[in-house]
Amino acid sequence: MAGRNHLYVPGPTNVPDSVLSAMHLPMEDHRSPEFPKLVQPLFEDLKRVFRTTTGRVFIFPATGTAGWEIAMVNTLSPGDKVLSYRFGHFSHLWIQSAKRLGLEVEYYEVPWGQGVPLDHLAERLRRDQNRQIKALLICHNETSTGVTNDLKAIRQILDETEHPALFMIDGVSSIGSLEFRMDEWGVDVALTGSQKGFMLPAGGAYVGFSPKALAARHSAKLPRSFFSIDDQIAHNDAGYFPYTPNTAMLHGLRQVLNLLLAEGMDQVYARHRRLAEGVRRAVLDGWGMRLCAQDPKWYSDTVSAIVVPEGFDARDVIRIAYYRYNLSLGSGLSELAGKVFRIGHLGDVNELMLASAIVGAEMAMRDVGIPVQPGSGIAAAMEYWRATASEAPER
Ligand SMILES: *Cc1c(COP(=O)(O)O)cnc(C)c1O
Repeated sequence: MAGRNHLYVPGPTNVPDSVLSAMHLPMEDHRSPEFPKLVQPLFEDLKRVFRTTTGRVFIFPATGTAGWEIAMVNTLSPGDKVLSYRFGHFSHLWIQSAKRLGLEVEYYEVPWGQGVPLDHLAERLRRDQNRQIKALLICHNETSTGVTNDLKAIRQILDETEHPALFMIDGVSSIGSLEFRMDEWGVDVALTGSQKGFMLPAGGAYVGFSPKALAARHSAKLPRSFFSIDDQIAHNDAGYFPYTPNTAMLHGLRQVLNLLLAEGMDQVYARHRRLAEGVRRAVLDGWGMRLCAQDPKWYSDTVSAIVVPEGFDARDVIRIAYYRYNLSLGSGLSELAGKVFRIGHLGDVNELMLASAIVGAEMAMRDVGIPVQPGSGIAAAMEYWRATASEAPER
């Protein structure tokens, strides 16, 4: 098909051309005396994106799924109790991973479309007088439902209840796009992958540990080998890795960090917020449809899960968008299969790129018979983006 594929799954996201170029390199000697000049600043700049000065961030040749395991095996012991909430595909998978590793997972079901119930959490932590809960596992942004949790409020609850549990968060579809402040919010382990907000191919897991989480490794008894942070610590300060790194991707990461830090993290968050709001206007005001996220306080600025009306199958919309219009929309995962399609609005995106996602989704919806008014979605998005364009910084 002529022209580009319009890629609006929430990951992998579009890789900026300058990042593609930065990765187009011959292989190199990862034990050369020059190599640390590339590597050492990566750790420092990753900390700026995670917003930690006291912790450290590790780079593993892995994916977000491995990030869960890296977080847990380095801090916990077999049979440790962990607390979590299940409100979508990814929070479900993290819980499953914790179970497989031999942790005792206490988790609560939350309707998909909502996030962590704060009152319940406060009550549960207060009841844990003997401090049996060793860690709290929270998916910051549930990519399957388009729900973002308020991590600051969760930290406040941990503080108010004086609960010592390690605060672990999945930031795969938030870090580098949504506001995230590891130190300020007292997050102990924060994990992400390379192919969402970091605008790289999949294959990088970036995991931040607070001083408290780093110290926990000395008593953590879960078996670990490839994912041991001890091995990383032994090599990273000198600018090396315990095993062969993906050197091309490290150069790509260098360029990603240049882009994010040049824009400024606060501006990165503001850009995602504004672009996401345009997409929401298209869905809610233009098409008159519903988001899976049930309340504005849960709305995700990186992904919107759009509920198709009764009697229609979202998979038809996705298939037609792909074959007729060269547009990749995100699918409904597990319980949501057929019920929603998703538009990822994170990473290297701007208004007119997202306009293609809105227009393509609208065409495909009309093709399957969903009665949206032609041009209604894009009209609502356009007018919002036009009205707020002055929010962009002066050039
Ligand atoms: C994509 C995603 C994952 C899984 O990451 P992989 O890189 O596919 O292993 C985990 N959690 C969330 C919230 C995600 O969006």
